[in-house]
Amino acid sequence: MASEKQSKAIPLSHHLSEVAKARKPSPLKGLSKYFKQEGVLSLAGGLPSPAYFPLSGLSVDALVSDSFALAPTERSSSFSWLWKLLGSSSFKKERTTAISIPKYSATPDDINLAAALQYGAAVAQPQLQNFLRDFVMQVYQPAFEDFTVLIDTGNTDGWCRAFGTLCNPGQGVLMEEWTYPSALASMMPAGVDPVSVPMDGEGMKSDALEKLLSEWDEEARQMSRPHVMYIVPVGQNPCGTTMGATRKKQIYEICVKYDIIIVEDDPYYFMQLGTYEMKSQRSSVASPVSHRSGDEARFIASLEPSFLKYDYQGRVIRLDTFSKTIAPGARLGFFTCNPVFAERFERQGETSTQSPCGFGQSIVTKILTTWKYEGYIRWLQGLRTEYQQRRDFFVDCLADEFHLQATPAVAGIWEGCTMYRAFSKPSVLNTNEKLLSQSRALFSFIPPNSGMFVWLKLNLEDHPSFTPDDEGTLETKLWARLAENGVIFAPGWFFTTDDLASSEPSAGHFRISYSNAEYGDLKKAVNIFGRVIREFFDEQV
Ligand code: PMP
Ligand code: PLP
Repeated sequence: MASEKQSKAIPLSHHLSEVAKARKPSPLKGLSKYFKQEGVLSLAGGLPSPAYFPLSGLSVDALVSDSFALAPTERSSSFSWLWKLLGSSSFKKERTTAISIPKYSATPDDINLAAALQYGAAVAQPQLQNFLRDFVMQVYQPAFEDFTVLIDTGNTDGWCRAFGTLCNPGQGVLMEEWTYPSALASMMPAGVDPVSVPMDGEGMKSDALEKLLSEWDEEARQMSRPHVMYIVPVGQNPCGTTMGATRKKQIYEICVKYDIIIVEDDPYYFMQLGTYEMKSQRSSVASPVSHRSGDEARFIASLEPSFLKYDYQGRVIRLDTFSKTIAPGARLGFFTCNPVFAERFERQGETSTQSPCGFGQSIVTKILTTWKYEGYIRWLQGLRTEYQQRRDFFVDCLADEFHLQATPAVAGIWEGCTMYRAFSKPSVLNTNEKLLSQSRALFSFIPPNSGMFVWLKLNLEDHPSFTPDDEGTLETKLWARLAENGVIFAPGWFFTTDDLASSEPSAGHFRISYSNAEYGDLKKAVNIFGRVIREFFDEQV
């Protein structure tokens, strides 16, 4: 177990892939140490002169950090979708702060375009680097001393560099049984396959992980025991599950026992929304998180901790991204990991993306340093409340459209949780709908307590055309019917890692995102879904 005193990362270089071991510093970048000497005249690099950058400064109107309310407003807690629509950002007058970035700054410590737009090492601009290190210390509190923070262009890039640095072709990566498809799509062509670990309502199951690793049969599997795990512990994509501290500690200790590196892909960390309460009960329920300004520490303490908090050996590679907290087009994120892996990631960055785009970096850096740490946390609190209201609104729409019945789940990924079974509502039956629909469960789900997604499990066994082991055909037919009616969900088969290891059949699911559409459109989509799925369950297809 971890000692109280912080220690340095243990030696972990035996995890490096052959490609990672073979990387050499790019020769010109290797000269950078000499550039720091005072008065040096460097004529070595192919640097364009900043005089030829076609701009003399950048001016940006940034939103103020308290643009979004800390708590659901009275008006919105009445849950009228019309109010929601009127309150949506496109109707609000935005409060802004003018930010400018000159080409040349008075002091070298100020962010300036001459430096930000120039070639340099594949690391963050110094002002951003300082901000991020402080942020990681305060928010994630890594348990090892020599953690390194390294910029990248988002978690897609982060994961791509992580598996390339750790995995050789023919190796496997431990993954949740349902996972983010791009993570699979980047590693599988490189000959790195998923090894599926069953999930429950908290995400990856620790007992299933221990069983899988302890019983690993290299010959039967034709693969050595995996030494890398990819995991989305908060607002899991697609299932929406969130892993608590106890489970994280259990998984961490199993990874210590079997010498596994944990890659924690965590884009939804600040979207920890609390438990969904039915509309009628909502106002009487105390919120689990702080809704007071100036209460950053309490907000941070209310969030489930990162794996970093338990990482006394330096075996966690945490991937953070600004895609969900600033904007995906910023293409900005960062690793937090041990210095040996960070050095290899930097080498890899040097020969691919180099440092992320200087325009984006300088704008994001200037916004963050203007808001300061407290302001950024305040911004994140406001975002959390916005997504909480969206989640509540979307589930309310489902509750209006269907009859929802709370039932304890006995198996599958929601084992141990209370799930909602959705029945066709007698009151919304129209003349075309057969009476049968009244008592038939159409789908079930758990309102997510983090992230952007509702994961629906379709009750295909009750469909008149159901044949066992052929859920895929029905899922695809219903998906196509919805698309023809103008509503697009993500079909479940996108997200599977392995049919055989899965605790549920891979088909018969939809992932629905409530993060982006206007409230009125969310309502409309649920109405269409209701009509289409009721019709679908009443006919042979
Ligand atoms: N290829 C050649 C031949 C170059 O000279 C350079 C820059 N000196 C690059 C690629 C790097 O290009 P970029 O900045 O677009 O990554
Ligand atoms: N990882 C997960 C689990 C995601 O859900 C997403 C976005 O949908 C990403 C990574 C992509 O992140 P980025 O925009 O930082 O590349």
